[in-house]
Amino acid sequence: MRRRWLFADQLGPHFLDSPEQPVLVVESKGVFRRRVFHRQKAHLVLSALRHLARDNDNVRLVRAETYAEAVTEPVTVCHPTSRAARGLVRRLPGVEMLPPRGFVTAPEDFVAWAHGRDHLRLEDFYRHARRRHDILMDGAEPAGGRWNFDADNREPPPASLDVAAPPRIIEDDIDAEVREDLDRWERADGIKFVGNDGPRLFPATRAEALARLRHFVKHRLPLFGPYEDAMLAGDPLMAHSMLSASINLGLLDPLEVVEQAEAAYRKKGVDLQSVEGFVRQILGWRDFIWHLYWYFEPGYRNADELGARRELPGWFQRLDADAVEARCLSDVLAGVRDRGWVHHIPRLMVLGNYAMQRGWRPGALADWFHRSFVDGYEWVMTANVIGMSQFADGGRMSTKPYAAGGAYISRMSDYCGGCRYQPKVRLGDDACPYTAGYWSFLARHERELAGNHRMRQPLQGLRRLADLEAVVEQEEARGSRAP
Ligand SMILES: Cc1cc2nc3c(=O)[nH]c(=O)nc-3n(C[C@H](O)[C@H](O)[C@H](O)COP(=O)(O)OP(=O)(O)OC[C@H]3O[C@@H](n4cnc5c(N)ncnc54)[C@H](O)[C@@H]3O)c2cc1C
Ligand code: SF4
Repeated sequence: MRRRWLFADQLGPHFLDSPEQPVLVVESKGVFRRRVFHRQKAHLVLSALRHLARDNDNVRLVRAETYAEAVTEPVTVCHPTSRAARGLVRRLPGVEMLPPRGFVTAPEDFVAWAHGRDHLRLEDFYRHARRRHDILMDGAEPAGGRWNFDADNREPPPASLDVAAPPRIIEDDIDAEVREDLDRWERADGIKFVGNDGPRLFPATRAEALARLRHFVKHRLPLFGPYEDAMLAGDPLMAHSMLSASINLGLLDPLEVVEQAEAAYRKKGVDLQSVEGFVRQILGWRDFIWHLYWYFEPGYRNADELGARRELPGWFQRLDADAVEARCLSDVLAGVRDRGWVHHIPRLMVLGNYAMQRGWRPGALADWFHRSFVDGYEWVMTANVIGMSQFADGGRMSTKPYAAGGAYISRMSDYCGGCRYQPKVRLGDDACPYTAGYWSFLARHERELAGNHRMRQPLQGLRRLADLEAVVEQEEARGSRAP
């Protein structure tokens, strides 16, 4: 059997043809020279590679500056997850590329589904995928008679959420060695990281990832649905799974995750509202985003339909949460700095929303998300950041921009009570930068958004604002300064 070359995001058994297959993994220092990654992300990836090599006799780990130096024998490799890596694989002699693994649906199935559609919408793809893979189906009908429980899954946050914390990761000698290496690279090799070092919070082995999955399905999944969109200052995790890093490293097969969630509904009576909400994230969103990366043309990552040209400010790039007074943004940025992870709504409605309001360059923001998050990879950035969060594609994958003012954050979080700004105020010292930024964003893009029927109401509201000129002037003056 030919040796299988595994990229560092292909580390689970579903990337092999048999458990005995000989494996090559490459630890490339060059990757860390080219970009400033979060320190905890670098730690996680190196720890995962080294654990795989130590725990399996059939795995050969090669340390090299580049992949090309390390791949010196004929190997097979599963389709990699970025265009650059695919180009490399095609160029290297003796490397046979196999179809992708690590996603539930196949590329040709997506292409057949997408063919001839003007708009690619998650809901349509998700229903197609559920039928195709018989997930949460009762015959030809969706389980429980409904495809979508989103309307029930938008509860504002409770005062607190009583769910068990995920099992802690116990670091070992490999983690200690990785930490020493990263310290040395920073000291002596000129390699730079962003974010705080800290105890490893995410699984580096399949055993750790499976323990997290089992724990989530048993203890946290039942409360996943209703509070999916809510944020609590003192509880960054709430009932989210924190499984993205493990699935993206390839430690967990998304199909096994979805099947375990469905089994919790079928065998343990866990509420369908939560199970459907969770399955939608993985079978729906995760696969959809993956296919869009390849389906859209390579230039999509540079799309900038709203003409957002400002560079990301230094405080944001450095994750300097202490420079920020706006409580929501400061807390979320601190989460990125300290954990390299926050859940979906802070990413979309606090970080992405702010960047879009301020007109920051979408491509630079995608690069920032890629480097600063433990689960960030090129494929996951393009549609999530360029399309969903920045509307820089003009609506090819979403019906309207995810722009919102302080009223939304106030309704869906407990941030505003303790903030020095007032969510309802748009002018003056107490003006909430999100509220004022929202109106200013709409004013700036009124023309581009005028034809969008979902923006009709907000634009009518805009036209009724007597103080709009002053708000726009105030926000121009605020610019990209830390709010
Ligand atoms: C601006 C922006 C940037 C994002 N960057 C990333 C990223 O770098 N890596 C990443 O994996 N996800 C990213 N997401 C999607 C989503 O926010 C994260 O997958 C999720 O917050 C991870 O936390 P969790 O594992 O607790 O997810 P849960 O809320 O528990 O959801 C379960 C799983 O669904 C999958 N999922 C849900 N939504 C998405 C989505 N939109 N795209 C891909 N997978 C999804 C993830 O695998 C996740 O683990 C981003 C979303 C936005 C709006
Ligand atoms: S008032 Fe505005 S800035 Fe402060 S927490 Fe609320 S939304 Fe954020």
